[in-house]
Amino acid sequence: MSAVGTPENPLRVAVIGSGPSGFYAAEHLFKTLGAGVRVDMIERLPTPYGLVRGGVAPDHPKIKSVTKVYEKTALRPEFGFYGNVEFGKDVTLEDLKRHYHAVIFAVGAQTDKSLGIPGEALAGSHAATEFVAWYNGHPDYRDRTFDLSAKRAIVVGVGNVAMDVARILARTCGELTSSDIADYALDALDASEVQEIIVLGRRGPAQAAFTPAELKELGEMADAEVIVAPEDAAVDALSSEWLATANDRDAEKNLALLKAYSDQPRQGKTRRIIFKFLASPLEIKGDGRVESVVIGRNVLVKREDGSLAAKASGVTEEIPAGLIFRSVGYRGVALPGVPFDERGGTIPNREGRVLDAAGGQPVGALYAVGWIKRGPSGIIGTNKPDSVETVERLLEDMRAGALWTPETASAGTIKEELKNRGTIVVDFQDWLKLDARETENGAKIGRPRVKFSSVPEMLAVLKG
Ligand code: NAP
Repeated sequence: MSAVGTPENPLRVAVIGSGPSGFYAAEHLFKTLGAGVRVDMIERLPTPYGLVRGGVAPDHPKIKSVTKVYEKTALRPEFGFYGNVEFGKDVTLEDLKRHYHAVIFAVGAQTDKSLGIPGEALAGSHAATEFVAWYNGHPDYRDRTFDLSAKRAIVVGVGNVAMDVARILARTCGELTSSDIADYALDALDASEVQEIIVLGRRGPAQAAFTPAELKELGEMADAEVIVAPEDAAVDALSSEWLATANDRDAEKNLALLKAYSDQPRQGKTRRIIFKFLASPLEIKGDGRVESVVIGRNVLVKREDGSLAAKASGVTEEIPAGLIFRSVGYRGVALPGVPFDERGGTIPNREGRVLDAAGGQPVGALYAVGWIKRGPSGIIGTNKPDSVETVERLLEDMRAGALWTPETASAGTIKEELKNRGTIVVDFQDWLKLDARETENGAKIGRPRVKFSSVPEMLAVLKG
């Protein structure tokens, strides 16, 4: 028999998850082995592309055009899309072992980090990740309700997700109509009474995690302005010392933009985005729902490793607000039968090879890419080298004969098995039909697309 990884005996890889990291892994496998590899991508939703569809802000259409590249990969004859199939429920690791030489986990980070403060469970207190998934039409979140009748909202965290949330809350309906935001979210945001959005950074402006392009964009909105008090744009002595050696261009640009915002006169626009740095929420108060947030002011201190941390100063203030979004990062979720590092919220791995525990030994034939491999950091492009690294390790293991030996010597897909179990599989041609229907429905009302957000609705469209 020919060696594994040849057209006569293709390497068979199951990729779990269809976001950027999964597609970059598939792309590198095809680039290296051509027709010598068969990739089956298993996705819980009927729709592909992970956070590109469910996370990237609807008013950032250019970023979403990256799916054209993924589509090219998906249209290869050696590629199979298994949408509406959930790993751990519809298909298990044992099932995959019978059909594939290896499995790559590309499941991302599916939940959020909490703040661990009193009042976090009150109505009106939300994870930003859930709000993002809701306005992007993610089926799991479409039925969430966000009461936008409050005048003031607080966003905790100063990363790019916080920027997305603040911007979507501050956009006019006219600005959002031209995006592919979910139709129900467009209606809710159109009726929103939120006028002031306070964004809290626990450290100083020089340590903000957002990127300059996203900060600049906040100042270019139709009916919203950015307000920064001079003290919130000021750089303290420790940050100046750090900036002098860090050579961090983004931090320097962010500081220049914040200074420009603090210098600009008020424009009298309807909505305001106010940045407050060195501020942490300590308690969310309210009778049944959020009514105010107690904020503790911080000072910066130098850690032993030279990094700068926030330390409570003891000074507090209470700000009336009816909504609070915690935007302090995503977190990975454990998968059935797969090692998980609770501390990091990731699958323990070394250069993508899954380990039995953090710092442990490779379990063999299991790999990780993207956020479930390295944690929730970086932009879409960061996933490309990350996935290449993992695939290179997989190929090394293939050459060393260290992968699984699947029982079935046939084409080796799980199609038949899933069919026998009654799982309705949505393949890539089905997705292309849904995609076409979404854009047609959008064109009728002058929008780029109207997303389907319910799985039964998607399956009914495909059946019809
Ligand atoms: P992030 O960039 O890691 O930012 C998280 C923010 O939360 C930081 O400001 C962090 O402050 C703060 N934080 C963490 N724990 C906190 C706590 N207990 N109390 C108060 N603040 C806390 O995460 P993200 O915004 O979720 O974004 C995830 C990744 O997606 C990032 O790499 C981001 O760039 C990317 N992304 C990119 C775009 C885009 O390119 N347009 C859009 C969205 C997301 P500290 O720094 O002090 O820890």
